[in-house]
Amino acid sequence: MGFVLRAFYNGSDGVFIGGCRLGECNYTTQGNYHALNMVSLCKRLMEHIGIDPDRLRIEFMSSAEGIRFARLVTDFIKDIKELGPIGEREGITREELKRRIQEVIRLIPYIKVSKKDKLSLILENKDEYENLYTKEEIEQLLTEIPSYYIDPEKCQACGICRRRCPVDAISGEKKKIHVIDQDKCIKCGTCFEACPSRFAAVQRIVGEPVPPPIPEEQRVLQRKKAAR
Ligand code: SF4
Repeated sequence: MGFVLRAFYNGSDGVFIGGCRLGECNYTTQGNYHALNMVSLCKRLMEHIGIDPDRLRIEFMSSAEGIRFARLVTDFIKDIKELGPIGEREGITREELKRRIQEVIRLIPYIKVSKKDKLSLILENKDEYENLYTKEEIEQLLTEIPSYYIDPEKCQACGICRRRCPVDAISGEKKKIHVIDQDKCIKCGTCFEACPSRFAAVQRIVGEPVPPPIPEEQRVLQRKKAAR
């Protein structure tokens, strides 16, 4: 998904993905089904941010079908030429287009985690992928984006969330209350899952502002003495 969106971000007018025929994958990974599934999701995301989803196409063929491959690519190029340069047809300026795509790219880890069950589906019928993701579902996905916040009253500075965060968005050290940098956070939810349940310090916030981080000088952890 990242490769596709980055291609559009960098100004490609169309992206064509060619895969082995469905059901004829030489490996057990069934990557062509996964690619088809990803394309279905990507098209919905494109629609959501105002890009014509016809700019993305996936086709399947065997290595013996050179003529078919050439025809499919020629047809795709013709269709893309008819659509014109990306953004122009859609009525979006280059800067705005880049901003919208960048925002979705930033949310890819969150999107993948949220849709992991559907993304791993392998459906028998190719047509079933067409409506696997609905417009309403994508609308909800991109409007109910969670934020993660470490409750300073509950954080015990165990460091588990900080070590597991894939983008180093959590600052803190031994005996110092941890804080999430909201600009760096990619909303993967790893810290939420990783925080030991006896602390439950990481909160998932949707539709409400995230409290500001506590000031640096107040981050030293005061361990409460156990009641006798
Ligand atoms: Fe890091 Fe938590 Fe944000 Fe994931 S959700 S990027 S683990 S701070």
